Amino acid sequence: MPGFEFWGAEEKKEVNDVLETGILMRYGFDGPRKGIWKSKELEDAICKTFGSKYAQLTSSGTAALTTAMAALGIGAGDEVILPAFTFVASFEAVLSVGAVPVLVDVDETLTLNPEAVKNAVTSKTKCVMPVHMCGSMADMDALLVICKEHDLILLEDACQSIGGTYKGKALGTIGHAGTYSFDFVKTITCAEGGVVMTNNEEVYTKCDGYTDHGHDHKGVDRGADLHPFIGYNYRISELHAAVGLAQIRKLNTFLEIQKRNHSHLKNILSQVPEVSFRKIPDPDGDSCTFLSWFLPTEEITHAVVNELKAQGILGGNFYWYDNNWHYIRKWDHLKNRVTLHAISDTQRSALNDLQTKDFSACDAVMSRCISTAISLLWSEEQIREKGEKIVGVVRKVLNEKVIPV
Ligand SMILES: *Cc1c(COP(=O)(O)O)cnc(C)c1O
Repeated sequence: MPGFEFWGAEEKKEVNDVLETGILMRYGFDGPRKGIWKSKELEDAICKTFGSKYAQLTSSGTAALTTAMAALGIGAGDEVILPAFTFVASFEAVLSVGAVPVLVDVDETLTLNPEAVKNAVTSKTKCVMPVHMCGSMADMDALLVICKEHDLILLEDACQSIGGTYKGKALGTIGHAGTYSFDFVKTITCAEGGVVMTNNEEVYTKCDGYTDHGHDHKGVDRGADLHPFIGYNYRISELHAAVGLAQIRKLNTFLEIQKRNHSHLKNILSQVPEVSFRKIPDPDGDSCTFLSWFLPTEEITHAVVNELKAQGILGGNFYWYDNNWHYIRKWDHLKNRVTLHAISDTQRSALNDLQTKDFSACDAVMSRCISTAISLLWSEEQIREKGEKIVGVVRKVLNEKVIPV
């Protein structure tokens, strides 16, 4: 994923432009900023690069999700269907607007299982939020059909799939709105930052105001701006946007390298017939930030993870099933409703239900999955070495696990 691997003179130059004027804020100070508007420039570049009509930068990907939900009118009591395999930010954003996260199974796409979504729709469902995990996409056609049939909002959390596409469209631009994160480990980084993309002018205008205390941004004098609704401060700074501007210009390079490295590694792991790979609804659209692969059973996967650890080569291989950040199994703070402030009864009882909800179908997928992060800096030799070592570990475990007949 990481754009931080390509930090260089270009980022420093953009940041320096801002440091020269000292105007670190994205709004106002029209004279002293001497024509430097990095945030606006980055929003334009995002629209052009990804084919979105509008883009609103935010202080993080989490803030982008919260902003998008507010702008789409998702709030108290509304149910939002999202996958049980995602980053914690996805449900944090749902909770932050007073809505109810309804977590459902993923399938071997590692994204929403459309059947599970269908089964979860109730009269309170307002939104379906696919999360395009690990660089690749959900089955968008199936989800679009469900949303259309039940008149639901489709909000894409594409935070970790910048540069991925589905049938020629950028992930994050297919639903009513979509978000990217530019945190430090994403495909392109601003250090911290995010964006909401939408083709709907009204949704965009709401995002613009919501991220800046409800300012309407209609005048030249901030003090005289009106506040048509209540907003918050989810602004990005000019320094962060400057970094993002240098990074977005490198995106195609990042993607080319990622795809090449991904394909080398996949070829090597393909030598083992027991290894299978993630299902990709549109293989051409995989941004290739990770290579996600499956082993035949949970037991074998555990043994492989342990052996990778024992050999000191687990780093960069993620076993999400045991990971505290990405899978329902370890989200005790969510299931136990550990919040610092009171939440609504509706939210409380929905979270309580998660303690006993059956995720066995999802467990059966996630317990067999390992995702290998693709580095931009690997040499061909390093990929070969890495791949052969993984293959060695898998073969060793498979040999030990074979029960003689
Ligand atoms: C990173 C990420 C976010 C949140 O982004 P931040 O910028 O870190 O707040 C949201 N959803 C997913 C799937 C992510 O990977």
